[in-house]
Amino acid sequence: MSFNDDVGLDTSQVESGGGGGGAPGGIAVGGGLGGIILLILGLIFGIPMGNGSDPTGGTTTGSSQEQVDGTNGSGSDFSNCKSGADANADVQCRVIGTVNSVNAFWAAELPRYQKQWQQTRTVLYTGSTPSKCGTASNQVGPFYCPLDQKVYIDASFFDILTQQFGADNGALAQEYVVAHEYGHALQDQLGLLGRAQQDPQGANSGAVRIELMADCLGGVWAKHASSTDGPDGKPFLKPLTEADIKSALSAASAVGDDRIQQKTQGQVNPESWTHGSAEARQRWFLQGYKTGDLNKCNTFNVDRVS
Ligand SMILES: [Zn+2]
Repeated sequence: MSFNDDVGLDTSQVESGGGGGGAPGGIAVGGGLGGIILLILGLIFGIPMGNGSDPTGGTTTGSSQEQVDGTNGSGSDFSNCKSGADANADVQCRVIGTVNSVNAFWAAELPRYQKQWQQTRTVLYTGSTPSKCGTASNQVGPFYCPLDQKVYIDASFFDILTQQFGADNGALAQEYVVAHEYGHALQDQLGLLGRAQQDPQGANSGAVRIELMADCLGGVWAKHASSTDGPDGKPFLKPLTEADIKSALSAASAVGDDRIQQKTQGQVNPESWTHGSAEARQRWFLQGYKTGDLNKCNTFNVDRVS
């Protein structure tokens, strides 16, 4: 239970999407291999760059039987997410609390580097919802969309993360995913995201370096999370335990390219990596966590990242 029970949550940093009639329990991943491969193609935790700015992007992922009018507001209003206690008890509230904590951290941290953090919102949807980078759903997994500068997460993705990818179900495994996406938001604000597009594949590609940097930035947040205060002057998170860090590492490792390739293809091809190996993802998260230093996350400054 990583949140301080009495810290207040700010639901204005998230917006709802999707949902409506569709049962949130119906995870859209069609089960079996097809679903997993789609997840990979969609770059889990990735940055869909959007090949053009067509808002609906023609990304009608074959299986949208569940017709969702993508209008916002049909989903939940998050009014049940008031405090850290709610974040400890409920996965959607936990995403909101993490968004609050990460926004507060980068807002406090960046001025040390003469930068201002632009508060970044998360669309916390169920089922599917439109984004400027195409349709968000668990078939593509959580992502940051640079075209509308929002993070998209369906909290039921965390069930997939544990059940299909084998991460443990600790709170920090989930919080790591959110912090990783906000790492991409920071990269966007610093003008770095193009480096992934220019060199999209391979163990030491620009894409992998961008992903591992986002893991490292998630670690930097984790290091400071228990000293990052909410609006009422109390820190959002309790000091992290070793078990918390193990949870984050289990998630980082579960989504390593080698793990996923082994599982789905029975072989590992580093030439097609986009996110880095399980080992590298853990190593870069820890690099951020141990140093707490943004400057130690420069994955473009080393010969080999993974
Ligand atoms: Zn990513």
